Amino acid sequence: MRVSRLFAAALCAISAGSCGPGDSQPAKEKLSAGSDEAIEGRGADTANWWDALPREEWSAYQRVLESDPWFEVYRVFPDTYAIYEPGHFEEVISFLIVGETRALLLDTGLGIARLRPVIASLTQLDVTVVNSHTHYDHIGGNYEFDRIAGVDHPFAHANANGAPNGEVGDMLRGDWVWKPLPRGVDATNYKINPYTVNEFIADGDVIDLGGVRLEVIAAPGHSPDSICLFDRQGRRLFMGDVFYFAPLYAHLEGSDLADYKASAEKLAALQPEIDTLITAHNAPVADSFYLGRMRDAFTAIAENRADFVETDGAREYAFENFSIIAPPPDSSPWLN
Ligand SMILES: [Zn+2]
Repeated sequence: MRVSRLFAAALCAISAGSCGPGDSQPAKEKLSAGSDEAIEGRGADTANWWDALPREEWSAYQRVLESDPWFEVYRVFPDTYAIYEPGHFEEVISFLIVGETRALLLDTGLGIARLRPVIASLTQLDVTVVNSHTHYDHIGGNYEFDRIAGVDHPFAHANANGAPNGEVGDMLRGDWVWKPLPRGVDATNYKINPYTVNEFIADGDVIDLGGVRLEVIAAPGHSPDSICLFDRQGRRLFMGDVFYFAPLYAHLEGSDLADYKASAEKLAALQPEIDTLITAHNAPVADSFYLGRMRDAFTAIAENRADFVETDGAREYAFENFSIIAPPPDSSPWLN
């Protein structure tokens, strides 16, 4: 979840491939004519988050012909597709990992456009949905799927009830969206549909897709139900929102800075066994080097050695290519 727009400017400044004019290629090179109109009609002479698009990192990957213009689909590994939603501020990325016998869909995005037909165009295997955590931008398409494996945690149970328009409708207003929305979807009716979890997963479980095995690693902090998936043989770690090249959110309702620090330490211990981090916003991969950097960052914050700026009651600590937003000591988490 990247809910607070207050930090959008910081995100632009810190994200790899910054938002500054001249850094971004003209979006029309990659996007459809309809999308161009949406860009040109908005935000003239202002720094828009979408000026960073298309992000250069994606050019390294083969783009797959998608069945819905809302999504961009890329093959980021021979067995893994990234399903990216660049039309919305969250720029969230879901991942389809295709084994020999079954497939796993890690997160289902915003629920703005229908995801299941896109997944059906990529694999005919049975698909199990697993959520990296249950913030709204990772569970929006859950309702479209029959098999969902989830974490047995009250936070996750509550989010499985969905979110009404009154809670999430604003996520489609103003400059949160620049791409044309799918027909029939707008800020007045957007909601997160409820869904049913039919299998529980927990720390240490191994999900065997045939030829690829994914270990569940509990990594609370950003949210209490955050998990990572570790492909030990493939030397890659699916991060969810635990790490990406943008502000890491440790200040939300349900966030816990101490838990986040402990998770960062646990994950950093795995760094020698990992080459690539697979990240769920903006751009799809990061070097595993950043596991150590993230651990060091949380240590520096805990030891009061990190510089910060205070914005609307939260502290943003800047590090190289990412930042951490945390509540001030002895304060309650942000309520959104
Ligand atoms: Zn999140």
